[in-house]
Amino acid sequence: TQTHARLRLEAALIDGLEGGELVLHYQPVFDLRTNRIVGAEALVRWEHPERGLLMPGHFVPVAERSDLVVLLGEWVIEEACRQLRHWHDLGLGDRYIAVNVSARHFSHGLTEAVTAALRASGAAPRNLVVELTESTAADNLEIVAATLAELRDIGVRSAIDDFGTGYSGLRYLASLPVDTLKIDKSFVQGMTPSDAAIVAATVAMGHSLGLTLVAEGVETHEQHRFLVSQGCDRVQGYLFGRPMPADDLVDRLR
Ligand code: C2E
Ligand code: MG
Ligand code: MG
Repeated sequence: TQTHARLRLEAALIDGLEGGELVLHYQPVFDLRTNRIVGAEALVRWEHPERGLLMPGHFVPVAERSDLVVLLGEWVIEEACRQLRHWHDLGLGDRYIAVNVSARHFSHGLTEAVTAALRASGAAPRNLVVELTESTAADNLEIVAATLAELRDIGVRSAIDDFGTGYSGLRYLASLPVDTLKIDKSFVQGMTPSDAAIVAATVAMGHSLGLTLVAEGVETHEQHRFLVSQGCDRVQGYLFGRPMPADDLVDRLR
């Protein structure tokens, strides 16, 4: 029964991709020094004809079981690049969009997909960021390191997502050409003394490695104040803005 349900969802997702039912919502990222929006994370949603707006947790894991996630990823990258170009044309400046990339995409032509999307849209490579998780990095270190180096060569930056939640050790950080660490929301929201210590240590370590620190899941003023006091660079969370349709973020940027 489960297999059947999964296959049905896969087929519906292919139709949805082709039928234009997928959309990207954008969550602003704020710089703590300037209090300005420096970029946004693109988060995929599926406007399902019968089930309403589906969050990625309902369909990305299914897509990740097959090459379907590569099709999905290509669409996300193309759409994000179109949006970057749109911001540029509106004069909304040098802000970035970060896209989430699945592990499988790294061995299935990620660099080519990014290059093609940048070329087709005319978006600036420096404004595109690729987010990957620790487990993506650790499971496939050689391919991921080579791909991130290729992306860096064309000017695209990268970020480790959900930092601190994997079981991967820290060795991989030394061998990957990444630019940003995103501190997982569980550490930001817990705010126990040990969570706070981990946040402080991550900021210090990231800065020693020359990385930019983004804290995820900031919901309260207390969390915001703590992150400022720790010298965190950027924040993302409901306190500053929920993921929203592209036009709503354009209004905010204006
Ligand atoms: P993520 O990349 O870590 O994205 C952050 C998630 O935290 C988003 O959930 C966002 O809505 C949520 N969030 C942001 N601020 C807050 C906050 O203040 N409080 C709380 N409680 N949550 C907050 P979302 O949109 O449901 O996405 C979940 C995950 O799905 C993402 O985690 C990412 O791993 C994956 N995902 C999203 N879009 C894509 C995509 O286009 N491709 C792939 N492969 N994965 C995606
Ligand atoms: Mg992410
Ligand atoms: Mg995250």
